[in-house]
Amino acid sequence: MRFTNRHFNLQSLLSVLCEGNKLGTLVQQTVTNGSPCNYHESATRPPPFMLLHKMTKTRTALGEVGLIEQIRRDFTASSKAVPLGIGDDCAILRPPPGSEVLVTTDFTLEGRHFLRDLHPPESVGHRCLARGLSDLAAMGGTPLAAFLSLALPPSMLATSAGRDWVQRFFSGLRALAEMHRVPLAGGDTAESPNGNNGLILADIVLVGTAPKGEALRRSGAVAGDALYVTGQLGGAAAELAMMLKRHRRILSMATTENHPQLSPEPRLDVGESLVRRELATACLDISDGLSTDLYHLCRASDVCAEIEQAALPIHPLARKLGAKAALRAALHGGEDYELLFSAPASVLMPTSLAGVPVTRIGSLKKKRSGRPLITMIAPNGTHEELKSGGWEHFSGTLKGRKKRLQ
Ligand code: ADP
Ligand code: MG
Repeated sequence: MRFTNRHFNLQSLLSVLCEGNKLGTLVQQTVTNGSPCNYHESATRPPPFMLLHKMTKTRTALGEVGLIEQIRRDFTASSKAVPLGIGDDCAILRPPPGSEVLVTTDFTLEGRHFLRDLHPPESVGHRCLARGLSDLAAMGGTPLAAFLSLALPPSMLATSAGRDWVQRFFSGLRALAEMHRVPLAGGDTAESPNGNNGLILADIVLVGTAPKGEALRRSGAVAGDALYVTGQLGGAAAELAMMLKRHRRILSMATTENHPQLSPEPRLDVGESLVRRELATACLDISDGLSTDLYHLCRASDVCAEIEQAALPIHPLARKLGAKAALRAALHGGEDYELLFSAPASVLMPTSLAGVPVTRIGSLKKKRSGRPLITMIAPNGTHEELKSGGWEHFSGTLKGRKKRLQ
């Protein structure tokens, strides 16, 4: 399928991405070289995920009650921690003794976090849950239950193509929920405004637990600590750019692995391991881009950071974009959902945690007048200020953001 006036022209797609997606600048930079670019026809292709679960197929129109009933049937999961799930006015949760409760909520909005014509529905469901799970991972939490509020245009329940989209969305969400044994314990379902032109809007709430007083905060780092990241950076931005340029076909996707944009892996085991082994002083997940999330850590802990460019673990997909774009993707791309954490320099950090590589990328310094909040040391030894260039809602014009990245 080509970009046409009936769908998006390139500029309007880019403005959606740039205004509404953390990766906009990278995508802009990657795809503006050509005339209209292609994107895949995900809606007509077989689902790419191996971990698919069949949701009950419905041939007739569904209403709110029908959809909720279907969700209840397909998501029945008993858990000691959830004595009452979908079906009553409230769910009842039973956190283990000695724990405290963590709560996080994240929007997944059509046109801002995904494009219906670009992201396969399984990926939208997966990413919706992954965002909340990643926040729990960042605090070292263990998921207890998820809650999903979903607004759909009426056509999504009235037409078979719409119902297929919804079914595939829940398949992606459910596969990840089962992988992390998190029950869907409730939510809300509503018709979105604007009839069939309405948007798909989802809000996920994750409730988790952590041993009392031990959840990892952003504010616990001190000068002298070393800085680490898990996994590799820039892959999510790179995969999106490639999807837009059709360098990588969704059709060839056989597993959920190595699709950092379509199926990011929340680092729950790493977070739990950091808490259990008391390794980290501060932690957060890299959802908005390393430069922006490190900025948050520095502000919360009242320290400065120095990172070494050569130490950054750049994702192989990002490397394919060329050195400059790869570095930009790693620093500012966002949506990688890796963990960024600090630990005392004296800690002998393992090279991997829960099977995920851990890389030391720099250290934290005392705040001093004239010292930038984040300094990046280039391979030739020169120091330069690293401005936060990741995603921020309501952060001004596209031009302004573009300038920051140059
Ligand atoms: P109420 O009118 O009390 O809000 P609803 O009819 O909206 O009840 O919901 C009935 C049950 O279905 C509740 O347990 C609610 O949590 C659950 N539920 C509704 N929508 C969803 C959804 N999208 N995902 C999961 N559970 C849902
Ligand atoms: Mg309701």
